[in-house]
Amino acid sequence: MAGGWTLDGGVLDQIEDTVTDGVLSARARLPAGESLLFCVECGEDIYGIARGVDDRPVNPDRERKSSGSETTFETNLLDTTRIETEIAALAEKVFA
Ligand SMILES: [Zn+2]
Repeated sequence: MAGGWTLDGGVLDQIEDTVTDGVLSARARLPAGESLLFCVECGEDIYGIARGVDDRPVNPDRERKSSGSETTFETNLLDTTRIETEIAALAEKVFA
């Protein structure tokens, strides 16, 4: 019996079967076997680092590898000229 906005049990079963099939199919495509323990490029213990085990000393003076800047506005900006001005200002901050 159709239940208005609710789905019939048969339809729910079909959806559930489809989801189950999708999950099983995705699992079957996951790579199997051992993971790498050490980085191929630098030899670091990536297995441990991925699990939060990291004995490397903290070096606050190391070379910076990325930089960014962001601003939150009171309202969404819609004026293109204003948007360009704000982007230019953010870019200036990043390059400074
Ligand atoms: Zn590495």
